[in-house]
Amino acid sequence: CNAGSESEKSCQLYVPSAHELGFDQEAFRQGKLSIVILGATGDLARKEIFPALLDLVAQRFLPEQVVLVGVGRSKRTSEEFRQQLKPALLEACPSQANACEGDVNAFLQKMSYCSLDYKSQEDFKGLQQFLEEVEDAAFQSARKADSLEQPALRNRVFYFAVPPFVFEDAASAIKETCLTDSGFNRIILEKPFGRDLHTAEELSTALKRLYTEDQLYRMDHFLGYEVCQNILSVRFRNAFVEPLMNNRHVAAVRISLKEDFGTQGRGGYFTKYGNIRDVVQNHLLQVLTLVALERPDGDLRAAKLELLRAVRDINMDEVVVGQYVAGNDHPGFLEDDSIAERDEEAAKRCPTFVQLVIRIDNDRWRGVPFIILAGKGLEESRCEVRIQFKETRSPDIFPGETCPRNELVMRVSPHEAIYMRMNMKTPGLSGDLTQSELDLCYNSQYGCTYRPRAYARLLLEALRGHQDQFVGEDELLRAWEIFTPLLEKLEGHACDKKLVKYPFGSQGPQQARDMLPSLNFLEP
Ligand code: NDP
Repeated sequence: CNAGSESEKSCQLYVPSAHELGFDQEAFRQGKLSIVILGATGDLARKEIFPALLDLVAQRFLPEQVVLVGVGRSKRTSEEFRQQLKPALLEACPSQANACEGDVNAFLQKMSYCSLDYKSQEDFKGLQQFLEEVEDAAFQSARKADSLEQPALRNRVFYFAVPPFVFEDAASAIKETCLTDSGFNRIILEKPFGRDLHTAEELSTALKRLYTEDQLYRMDHFLGYEVCQNILSVRFRNAFVEPLMNNRHVAAVRISLKEDFGTQGRGGYFTKYGNIRDVVQNHLLQVLTLVALERPDGDLRAAKLELLRAVRDINMDEVVVGQYVAGNDHPGFLEDDSIAERDEEAAKRCPTFVQLVIRIDNDRWRGVPFIILAGKGLEESRCEVRIQFKETRSPDIFPGETCPRNELVMRVSPHEAIYMRMNMKTPGLSGDLTQSELDLCYNSQYGCTYRPRAYARLLLEALRGHQDQFVGEDELLRAWEIFTPLLEKLEGHACDKKLVKYPFGSQGPQQARDMLPSLNFLEP
């Protein structure tokens, strides 16, 4: 599973056409689309957004004359920007998409750069002018084909890959100066969407004054991961899965995101957020909604919201928080140089590990603990969902025997896989019980199928106007409603919940593992 199959190494990658995907690609490719990336000089843009766009361009999923404009405060020419971006694109080249230097060069030709100050309306007027110029140049050839009666639609998407305190100024200036009045205008936003219920509401209110909900796309890239995309199919397309997904059969569920690295120089950012805000309130809660929601009746986001409304207050007695200290020759969290001196006290209280329990108060899940675990500086990197079923006994045929639990495991990373732990007869003459895995490993099974990176998939969804895979405002606020009381308790001065220190590279606080039997979860 880990290495990938021989066929994967030698196969011709199969990329379904847009037609096969049920999308009117021709009409879309004829459209005139500009994608403006704010924060184009940043880490996220370099690591994820531009490689995803490269993939989409290389696979011909975007309009032929798409215009790509990077925006940042720092001054540089378009040519300088292209040269700076090129090595990152070559490095991130999605090998499975067979992108090569030619693709990168063709991609960069569509790319230009505009510098501005996010607080200056004048600068945004300059951006509008800049956009018109590059659009005119790019769309010139296409324009000849437009009939006089039917003026060409110009669509614009603005991707906010900037720190959140820039959102409001930029969103407002774009509204004033840069929107197209022929075609759609969409805003893609990156987390964090606030740091608690109050700040999320403030941001939401500010954005609502400017844009309608159907123009806002709140990105949670976990929703774009292949395995997360598959959760609803596994549940609702298999006769033997969905009938078992309830408290009669499921003992416990664990959703975990373990990271074997630390804050990697982002300790300053991390101190302000901690890992509950960084990955639990958003990514892991989103995964939980897919695992637990009722069958969506055409509206996925409504089904997720309904589920979130059934989540009870988090019980502090079921919470373990920790912080890694030096271990395995790796410095502790507090030794991260990017933590400012003024934030040292806050850093001491900042969790890099959390285990907590979500309890869902509905007929399907009442009594089933959903254990959420997220930690940095752990012994491995792994993200997975483990659904553990209650033990079975068949005293009539196997007297005195209790079978080990069946498990359905959906591994998001590394090496995507979905497998079931089954109880079997030991092969051969013995009739003894043994556990085996029915194993679907994506690399060996689907090695020759195009599986886009999460950002590519979600960008395409946003361009096509599909909002299902983005976080709705109601969901977002409900998620904060669930976690804000917990955060307030943990961050309050009267909090008696101790941050447990654990060595870097270990399994995290022992207390978290000690709690598992009482949560009816058996460590694999
Ligand atoms: P960076 O810190 O790299 O910042 C992105 C860009 O924003 C910078 O290149 C800089 O460009 C500009 N910028 C930085 N500080 C300011 C400021 N004070 N005022 C205005 N502009 C500023 O962030 P990332 O690229 O890592 O992340 C961007 C956003 O995406 C953040 O909100 C982050 O939380 C979120 N995010 C990041 C992820 C990641 O993996 N990096 C993952 C998920 C979300 P310039 O100076 O050229 O203007």
